[in-house]
Amino acid sequence: MADKTSGRTPLMAGNWKMNLNHQEAVVLVQKLAWTLADKRHDYSAVEVAIFPPYTDIRSVQTLIDADRIPIKYGAQNVSTRENGAYTGEVSASMLAKLGCSYVIVGHSERREHYGETDEWVALKAKIALKHGMTPIVCVGEGLAQRREGNHLGFCTDQVDRSLGGLTATEVAGIVIAYEPVWAIGTGETATPQDAEEVCAGIRQQIETSYGGPAADSVRILYGGSVKPNNVAALMTEPDIDGALVGGASLHVDDFAAICRYYDLPVL
Ligand code: PEP
Repeated sequence: MADKTSGRTPLMAGNWKMNLNHQEAVVLVQKLAWTLADKRHDYSAVEVAIFPPYTDIRSVQTLIDADRIPIKYGAQNVSTRENGAYTGEVSASMLAKLGCSYVIVGHSERREHYGETDEWVALKAKIALKHGMTPIVCVGEGLAQRREGNHLGFCTDQVDRSLGGLTATEVAGIVIAYEPVWAIGTGETATPQDAEEVCAGIRQQIETSYGGPAADSVRILYGGSVKPNNVAALMTEPDIDGALVGGASLHVDDFAAICRYYDLPVL
């Protein structure tokens, strides 16, 4: 059994990034569902969500609805605009119509390659909430800030700005992902203690800005080269409520093992 005592339901979120077409997506979801069903996975104890590319979402929705699979799904991005002449954008209402529960906003790859600012991230979080979806707001320092020892201040500043305009009630229901940029896709993982330092600092910042109830219920994930061999130790930390998983979420056995981290040894 998952042994978290915080009262917050752990969330294991698989970010597929720009991988897998809609046919491959269906195969992966089926295999994941079968693997977890074999182990009688209790989805109310550890929530599982996947984030396919936009073009896969309709196929994933159709499969999940038809087979009543308790895996949730969401998008990797969303437009700040409601609708209109914004070529290439996908709106929150379109994603909500496709049954998305979550939207990742402010992933470091979007900040780095597409110039997304904290202000844009806040608009995206707000519009996702408006349309009934939960934003997963990503923050995380680069190597330079970590080397300067400024990682905590950098991340809490990012949190402050990226949640700008949200109410305390809204913040209580969102998910924040702490993803040190130097650990994403590199095989480098923050130690559980390093990850906990920042996740606890973010929770403290939420308490200061939005109050105790919001801090107690907001879920904070760690992301950055999470694998079956490091997830159990990360999950022993009190302020880490789950993981945002990139590479390993494309491998069914690895991602299923991560979802069942409590069966794994703490290494
Ligand atoms: C991510 O994409 O959010 C991520 C953490 O990737 P990886 O697990 O591959 O480092």
